[in-house]
Amino acid sequence: MTDGVVAADAAGLRRAAELLRQESVCAFPTETVYGLGAHAFSAKAVAEVYRLKQRPSWNPLIVHVASTRDARALAHEWPEAARLLAARFWPGPLSLVVERAHHLPANGGPPTVAIRVPAHPVALALLEECGLPLAAPSANRSESISPTTAEHVIRSLPDVPLVLDGGPCRLGIESTVVDVTVSPPRLLRPGALSLRAIREVVGELQLPDASPVPSDGVQSPVRSPGLAHRHYAPRASLHLVDDPAELAAWAEDAEAGTIGILTHRSTAPRGVQVELLSADPLEYAADLYAALHRLDDAGVATILAQTPPAGDDWLAVHDRLARASAS
Ligand code: AMP
Ligand code: MG
Repeated sequence: MTDGVVAADAAGLRRAAELLRQESVCAFPTETVYGLGAHAFSAKAVAEVYRLKQRPSWNPLIVHVASTRDARALAHEWPEAARLLAARFWPGPLSLVVERAHHLPANGGPPTVAIRVPAHPVALALLEECGLPLAAPSANRSESISPTTAEHVIRSLPDVPLVLDGGPCRLGIESTVVDVTVSPPRLLRPGALSLRAIREVVGELQLPDASPVPSDGVQSPVRSPGLAHRHYAPRASLHLVDDPAELAAWAEDAEAGTIGILTHRSTAPRGVQVELLSADPLEYAADLYAALHRLDDAGVATILAQTPPAGDDWLAVHDRLARASAS
């Protein structure tokens, strides 16, 4: 059972580190979302993550470490792109997929490992205190909305042994995942770090849909297993609506309290629960999950999301909304 939410002070960090060393789990803040931390190479601890999250076993975890040096120790090879990207963006919201060091237990997972150094003082202090590489997927039930506050964690995972409270997450959306085992590097998941920033460092970047269809016509398996999936979804059913007039028409016809609206346009219809988000993509992303949590709390059955603007800067937001609306 849970000890609940504790402050991320010295005593809280000590308790959290102790749990991690005992191969248990605890939730902690990062700059992206709250993670459910576990010793990344303890089969017992990792099994507990999958159990608590009800995460399908085919979806591998990102390993969090305190430094590039610690990251390299987990990799069989550290390609030039990894060196450049780590030097520029770590600590930060970029996960690098590299070949896994052969001494690491594979536990039936892929021959690669996704690694990042988080840019959050609590996450770094915890990594330091426990001295372990930490798997830390978002601290929520699989498929549901990621947590950006300690309160979100407890509500989604009431049985989590401990949550370190570090306040709301600054970025509020998951890391960008890039596979550097291929050249040019390939984007596996858009996220908090923009493609523009990554391209400035590595030049070309392959996009997920750029994968060639083999001559036998059979699509290769998804490179990032977590991608082909409904995810980030609120309880309410979410629909993307392009035309503001259509949004207004829906809102007008709806029975009171049944519809919520998520939009970046200040001309949102009145009389329904509206979450007005910023027209700036970074600010929009930072608020997105909290807004979805609030709409779920309001008990609406349907969320209508105004389609955000096009363009690379909105890629991660489009990705999350598309998967939140997948059935
Ligand atoms: P999260 O649940 O937010 O921690 O998501 C982790 C993401 O990283 C998922 O999309 C995973 O499929 C992806 N991922 C983790 N490890 C690997 C790996 N070794 N190769 C490719 N993608 C990975
Ligand atoms: Mg997640």
